[in-house]
Amino acid sequence: MALINDHFLKLTKNYLFADIAKKVNIFKATNPKANIISLGIGDVTQPLAPAVLEAMHKAVDEMGSSETFRGYGPEQGYDFLREAIIKNDFAPRGVKLDPSEVFVNDGAKSDTGNIQELVRWDNSVGVADPIYPVYIDSNIMIGRAGINQDGRWSNITYLPCNEQNDFVPSIPDHKVDIVYLCYPNNPTGTVITKEELKKWVDYAIKNDVLIFYDAAYESYIQDDKIPHSIYEIRGAKKVAIEFHSYSKTAGFTGVRCGYTVVPKELTVAALDGTRYQLNPLWERRQCTKFNGTSYISQRGAEAIYSPEGKKQVKEVIDYYMTNAKIMREALVGCGFKVYGGEHAPYLWVKTPNGETSWRFFEQMLYSAHVVCTPGVGFGPAGEGYIRLTSFGNRENCEEAIDRIKKWLM
Ligand SMILES: *Cc1c(COP(=O)(O)O)cnc(C)c1O
Repeated sequence: MALINDHFLKLTKNYLFADIAKKVNIFKATNPKANIISLGIGDVTQPLAPAVLEAMHKAVDEMGSSETFRGYGPEQGYDFLREAIIKNDFAPRGVKLDPSEVFVNDGAKSDTGNIQELVRWDNSVGVADPIYPVYIDSNIMIGRAGINQDGRWSNITYLPCNEQNDFVPSIPDHKVDIVYLCYPNNPTGTVITKEELKKWVDYAIKNDVLIFYDAAYESYIQDDKIPHSIYEIRGAKKVAIEFHSYSKTAGFTGVRCGYTVVPKELTVAALDGTRYQLNPLWERRQCTKFNGTSYISQRGAEAIYSPEGKKQVKEVIDYYMTNAKIMREALVGCGFKVYGGEHAPYLWVKTPNGETSWRFFEQMLYSAHVVCTPGVGFGPAGEGYIRLTSFGNRENCEEAIDRIKKWLM
């Protein structure tokens, strides 16, 4: 008899976007003339950069000729891309990596979900709250999250990020073995300074804690004092695995490519105290369960690092960040407390008068016909906030802001 992995049965359905759609649809049915604008979109909207397209077209042509056809590639990614990553994303920031420490993937979601296979099921986990749901859900699936009590998992330590701590969690006061951090952050759009990140790295070194660091939004950072990589902090290679993605950087949400860094200096103890590198384990895991992302995608990713590619990708990021700036300034002008939106495509807006996230979501929908995402959908510490994204087009952002202003007047 086959028995099910019943940890999957513990997963609570993520109703957030379904619930939003339901409320929007009901409103549409009763107000068919309303022109609803969504500032809730979590996907990029601008097309791929011409340099990327050109590289991908060329790669497709290579696939069509027997001399240049490519079959299975290296599971860890082609050297041309691994080398371009090190040369462009790390060397200029003083971070030395070897290509064998960079694993190209099909986007950061798979690896942020899969990485926990490398550590025992009974490690305790700390997550910044609010968060990207993949971190907790992947731990539930393997039985590491414990039991759900009132929407919180017993073996997960929630590290609240709020106005009091500038959206950087405090070091936990009890033992955790693994910590997930994401900066620039989704959903709050906030960043971490080198000083604050150093506290986490020092804590991890001292207490033998493993950090999973999600840097999916690093290309939105506008100020070079803010760390793009945790490895900018001395000693971080001993304790951290880092995830990158071309999804938000270069509009690759539909192309699929990213990479994970597993430094050779990083070791984790076995029960008998012997320490092992995670790098060869991840290599083995990838070679067994993953067959690489497509050659065409990897050539497209490589093109992001060409001089034209860099310029074109930056133009798109600037477009989204101008949207963010327009929305941020207008909302601050309306008296809202707004966080994020300066180094990330997300604005985290405090609801006025202590209203709940859902109540404010409804008011904005009914009065301004603008859709946002209720912050509580990203974790308990998100209550009392809403998330706006700057991934829409300029006209919609401006129109939405005008309506919000009129609604509040
Ligand atoms: C969008 C996003 C990712 C990237 O996902 P892909 O699988 O690379 O498309 C990773 N982490 C966070 C927090 C994200 O918001």
